[in-house]
Amino acid sequence: MELCEYRGKSILREHGIPVPEGRVVESAGEAKEAAAELGGEVVLKAQVPAGGRGKAGGVKFAASPEEAAEAAEALLGMSIRGYRVERLLVEQKLEIQKELYACVTVDREAGMPLVMLSSEGGVEIEQVPEHLIARTHVEPLLGLQPYMARELGAEAGLRGSELRQVAEVLHRMYEVFRSRDALLVEVNPLALTPGGAFAADAKLTIDDDAWFRQGMEHQEERQRYVELSGSIGCIVNGAGLAMATMDTLKRLGGEPANFLDIGGGAGAEAMRSAVARVVSNPQVKVLLVNILGGITRCDEIARGIVEAVRELSLPVVVRLMGTNEEEGRKILRSAGIEVERDMLAAAKLAVELSKSI
Ligand code: GDP
Ligand code: MN
Repeated sequence: MELCEYRGKSILREHGIPVPEGRVVESAGEAKEAAAELGGEVVLKAQVPAGGRGKAGGVKFAASPEEAAEAAEALLGMSIRGYRVERLLVEQKLEIQKELYACVTVDREAGMPLVMLSSEGGVEIEQVPEHLIARTHVEPLLGLQPYMARELGAEAGLRGSELRQVAEVLHRMYEVFRSRDALLVEVNPLALTPGGAFAADAKLTIDDDAWFRQGMEHQEERQRYVELSGSIGCIVNGAGLAMATMDTLKRLGGEPANFLDIGGGAGAEAMRSAVARVVSNPQVKVLLVNILGGITRCDEIARGIVEAVRELSLPVVVRLMGTNEEEGRKILRSAGIEVERDMLAAAKLAVELSKSI
C-alpha cells in the first residue's frame, strides 16, 4: 500500500527526519487559515497516493492566505492519475538550493535492501543516468552503517555539513524502512536549504502483508488502479481476472484505458466509488465491469453499479456471474442495464462500442 505524502511525512517526522511545517486541509477556507498560521509563502500539494503530481499540476505555490485559498479551489476536486483530490497538504515553502534523490528499497535480485542517493533529484529517477546514482546494498542483520551513509553522500558529491546532514537523513530513512515494514521509502526531492536538509516529499510503500502488525487501516487503498492508454475503462475483481480481461480486450483489438481491481468481497459502496474513479479518466469512452462472484456478492455489485451509472453518460457493459447472480441480474435489468454471463461476449461488446464512439 502506498501512503499519501502527509502520512509518509508524519512517519518520517516521528523518526527525526526534518520535514517542513504543514497542515492537512479539505477546503479553501481551511487552506487560507493554514497559510495564515504558517506565515509567509506556502506550497499546496494534492494528497493522492501517486507520484508525478508536480507535472500533473498538483503542486501550487502561494504568497498570501488569499492566494492559498485560490490555489486550493483549483486543486480540490481535480483528478490525478485516477484519484480525485480531496485533501491538500499546505506547507511552509522551502528555499531549495539543491534537490537530491534518496531512497531505500528492496533489491529482489540481490535479496537485500538497497539505498540510493543522487544529486540529480526532483525528476523521476528512471531519467537519471545510472552513473549519477550512488548505491549500496545493506546486509539486513547489520543495518546501514554510518560510514556507508557518508560514503554515499561523498559519492553524490556532498561535502562538509551537507554531507553530515544527508548521511543522518539516510540513516533515519533506513530505520523507517526497517521498523515500518516498508518496501519503499523515497524522498524526492531531499531538499538542501539554508536551514539544513529537509524531506520536501515522501513516498512510502508499506508491505501489504505487514498491515496487521503496523496497525494500518485498509481503507479504499485496497483497490489497485492502473492507468493505460486506450479508451475502455475496466473494473474487475482479482489480479488474475484483471490480466485475463486486459489480454482478451487486446486480442479483440480493443485498448484498455485503465483497470481497477476492487479485490475480493467488495460491497456496493466500494463498487460505486470504483466506477467514479475509473470514469474520472477522460480517455474512458466505455466502461466494462467484469466480476466473478465468489466472496464478492453479485447483488452488492449490481447495487453499486446502479447507484454509480445514474450520473453517467457512457455505455456500460457488465459481465457478472457467481454468488447471488440471479438477484444481481434482476437489479441491473430493472435499471435497464443488460448483463452478459460470458466474458468473451462482454469484451467483444465493449470493444465494438469503444470503436463506434
Ligand atoms: P511529485 O511531483 O508528486 O513528486 O511532488 P513533489 O512533492 O516532489 O513536488 C514537485 C516539485 O515541486 C519538487 O520537485 C520541487 O521542485 C517543488 N517543490 C515542492 N515543495 C517545494 C518547496 O517547499 N519549495 C520549493 N522551492 N519547491 C518545492
Ligand atoms: Mn517528488
